[in-house]
Amino acid sequence: MTTVAEDTRTRPKVFLEDMGCQMNRLDSEIVLGKLRGEGFERVPDPGEADVVLYYTCSVREHAEDKVYGRLGALRRLKMERPEMVIGVMGCMAQNHKEAIFDRAPHVDLVVGTSRFEDVVDLLKEARHGERVLALDRKDLSYERDIGVRPRRHHAFLNAMRGCNKFCTFCIVPFTQGRERSRSMDEIVDEARRLRDDGVVEITLLGQRIDAYGLDLGDGATLAGLLARLHEDVPELLRIGYITSHPNHMTAELAQAVADHPRISRYLHLPVQSGSDRVLQAMNRGYTVDSYRRALDTMRTRIEDLSVATDWIVGFPGETEEDFEASVALAREMDYQGSFVFRYSPRQGTRAFDLGDPVPREEKARRNQILLEIQKDISLRRNEARLGTEVDVLVEGVSKRNPMRWTGRTDRNLIVCFSAARDPTGRMVRVRLNDCTALTLFGEPI
Ligand code: SAM
Ligand code: SF4
Repeated sequence: MTTVAEDTRTRPKVFLEDMGCQMNRLDSEIVLGKLRGEGFERVPDPGEADVVLYYTCSVREHAEDKVYGRLGALRRLKMERPEMVIGVMGCMAQNHKEAIFDRAPHVDLVVGTSRFEDVVDLLKEARHGERVLALDRKDLSYERDIGVRPRRHHAFLNAMRGCNKFCTFCIVPFTQGRERSRSMDEIVDEARRLRDDGVVEITLLGQRIDAYGLDLGDGATLAGLLARLHEDVPELLRIGYITSHPNHMTAELAQAVADHPRISRYLHLPVQSGSDRVLQAMNRGYTVDSYRRALDTMRTRIEDLSVATDWIVGFPGETEEDFEASVALAREMDYQGSFVFRYSPRQGTRAFDLGDPVPREEKARRNQILLEIQKDISLRRNEARLGTEVDVLVEGVSKRNPMRWTGRTDRNLIVCFSAARDPTGRMVRVRLNDCTALTLFGEPI
């Protein structure tokens, strides 16, 4: 008979770090699920691992530099333990291809965005001493071990992948390929299985979730999907969806959210710039005015909709006047949150040929200005909620203060509060009494 201790000693060990977006988080959970099925145990330190995997992002250069830094630090370990397998997965694998082997010759495995589901077989090849490059495009099965997820009560669920928009700055259409939606039946079935396993909140994922269904040709839309999940899986307390491009903010979508109380009232709608000239150079496919109308479609139908956005500062040719237009739009739009990115040239995109003329310090200055404006707006918006009551779906213990619980409202507002018993996974009504720009505080009632 094997004891538990012996069993743990003999199980192969994997270290896996994921970087970038929630989609990568989910893909890496799927990889872990497959490895768990093969008996792998996850370890927190590459030094203890038989297999070291990085699930990577290519959206900005910084993300790729980080991976090369991590790989460099493993060189010595690989010399000491040549049987250790090192793999690079995801967007950067798809983007840099075999060049990863040139820059980091101790890497064994480069696995692109359509082949991560085959991790078990690919690892077997690599363990036979072969270098493995798996970049071909093929349909994903979307099979997953639903038990592998960071939180018991929440799960990400892939609804579509890829992007057809080709914004001139963005690598995603190259790394993730064209838009592909899953059938509604398949998504609802996965949601039911997650519910049966204790999940009360799902977040639908897609690089362009607004485009869900358009490629299926059977009339499926994001609005229809949200409504169906709401009706068919009533035990889900909350259904979220990220991220949207502004061009498909339809009245149908707004109405679907308005009519179904358990659909999140949070919309992530990246604007990128407040200047029509820059938006055109980015090939975003909208003007400031049509963005305004898209958001209006949503805000007029969904009461107190909470909106977050993305900005890029320092896009090639962005003048002070263009930037001032972004500042004015940030003030006008009254976002709940802003993610601000400094432009990072990506080889292979159309904007790459424009160079990177805005100096680094200027990008940093513009970044800081937008963040400060957003901080003031977020604080003012949060202060206006003090004294009101909100329903908080509790996620667990607060990282900042282990004496408190933390969760989110249906507007994606973070709320911390004290409670004697563990309310994780439940909806708790809280009266708000204090706040910062990012967090609200209150007492349960
Ligand atoms: N699909 C979403 C949309 O249409 O807005 C965005 C997905 S993209 C992966 C996430 C964010 O990264 C973008 O909204 C953009 O602000 C930022 N981003 C993408 N490429 C970038 C680049 N080359 N430099 C800086 N930020 C970039
Ligand atoms: Fe990238 Fe544009 Fe597609 Fe968003 S819509 S993923 S920014 S190309």
